[in-house]
Amino acid sequence: MRRARKAKIVATLGPSTSTPQAIEGLFTAGADIFRLNFSHGTHRDHQARYDIIRAIERKLDRPIGVLADLQGPKLRVANFAEGQIHLQAGQQFRLDLNEELGDLRRVNLPHPQVFAALHIGSELLLDDGRVRLRVEKHGADFADTIVITGGDLSNHKGVNVPNVVLPISPLTEKDRADLQFALEMGADWVALSFVQRPEDVLEMRRLVGERARIMSKLEKPSAIDHLNAIIEFSDGIMVARGDLGVECPPESVPILQKRIIHAARKAGKPVVVATQMLDSMVHSPAPTRAEASDVATAVYDGADAVMLSAETATGEYPVDAVTMMDRIIARVEADEQYQMIRDAARPQPTGTTRDAISAAARQVAHTLAVSTVVTFTSSGSTTLRTARERPDVPILCLTPDVSVARQMALVWGTHSVVAHDVHSFGEMVAVAVESAHAQGLAQWKDQIVITAGVPFGTPGTTNILRVAVVEEP
Ligand code: PGA
Ligand code: MN
Repeated sequence: MRRARKAKIVATLGPSTSTPQAIEGLFTAGADIFRLNFSHGTHRDHQARYDIIRAIERKLDRPIGVLADLQGPKLRVANFAEGQIHLQAGQQFRLDLNEELGDLRRVNLPHPQVFAALHIGSELLLDDGRVRLRVEKHGADFADTIVITGGDLSNHKGVNVPNVVLPISPLTEKDRADLQFALEMGADWVALSFVQRPEDVLEMRRLVGERARIMSKLEKPSAIDHLNAIIEFSDGIMVARGDLGVECPPESVPILQKRIIHAARKAGKPVVVATQMLDSMVHSPAPTRAEASDVATAVYDGADAVMLSAETATGEYPVDAVTMMDRIIARVEADEQYQMIRDAARPQPTGTTRDAISAAARQVAHTLAVSTVVTFTSSGSTTLRTARERPDVPILCLTPDVSVARQMALVWGTHSVVAHDVHSFGEMVAVAVESAHAQGLAQWKDQIVITAGVPFGTPGTTNILRVAVVEEP
């Protein structure tokens, strides 16, 4: 089974998509990676979905990626005596460490680090920005605020503090336990929420080691200030537009989306555009025109993948949402305008042998009209550098490592297959030809381009390029 498109689809699993039938339906419709959202559900729920994914993988003989998304330090107010209050613009309201239930004058915000980091004039955004408060005065255990935008505020609503770098670890106790669980389970990617600084990614790296790839979710303005360093330390990036659009004004989200994609593409790190892409499909079998346009824009912008959240996790039309995304992507990729933008936006190869070979592979692929570029890779890096070149044909990733094959499911244009190590030139060509044909990426008599590293089996040595004809054995 291979996809007729280059950009990938990430689908979040949830109550709507927990059975083998539902998850296989999403995969068949086009989901390449499944996201397990640790903001919701129990370890047992995630394990059950994980096991189903691996069973589908065996049944259909295709590597499938699993992204474990950690909640991160999402700040929340505690509870109110009445469950809910209504705040009027202009009134005073206090946040504090007092554990008593809240009322019209105050509520508990159980995060002491926040009080220390605030400034007079800092804004606090509650319930996805529906309620805004401005800090008038603050101490070690309280903040007195004035309500700028009033509204209802109920138990446990989220609090965003834009433009303040909070002295908190990006990993809460819950995140650490979830991460441990996700790694033991076998997640291919782990996502870190509310990254603020490059050091946050390094802290995650110390815990993850080589066991999974790290995706940094960009949803804080402070992360944008260190964009390149965060990208450098990460394996992948998510444009997390939900919280980003609360922390920054909505009009800056499209521009940040383009900036983040551009920077990630330049670094050759896969980048995912997330949140509200087909939001109305949570309750409707068809998207709005604006949503279709939003998915298309992410593809035109050069994203590796687009993501569905509630649409597939809790929505009423999960398969329709994936099908719709699949159709939009395929349609954009067939557009001449898209191809022109893609070619014009291609970053320069850096001065490494691997980049020189990858750029040459693209060039040869276009000149000879080959049907696929085959990359032999042990770590995935040759495949990533080839994808950075955005060739017009599919990239076949042949790797002996099943985790690498699963991780590469996220990468633009890549079709991965687990293949045994090769030890000679002749074997390399035979395996590439056989695999390209068996996967439906090449017909008999087609030409293919192969890149690999000699001596074989040594990671990081991509140094050869071979053109081969797909001969019938
Ligand atoms: P979330 O992340 O769904 O975990 O909040 C995505 C976003 O904020 O857009
Ligand atoms: Mn978020």
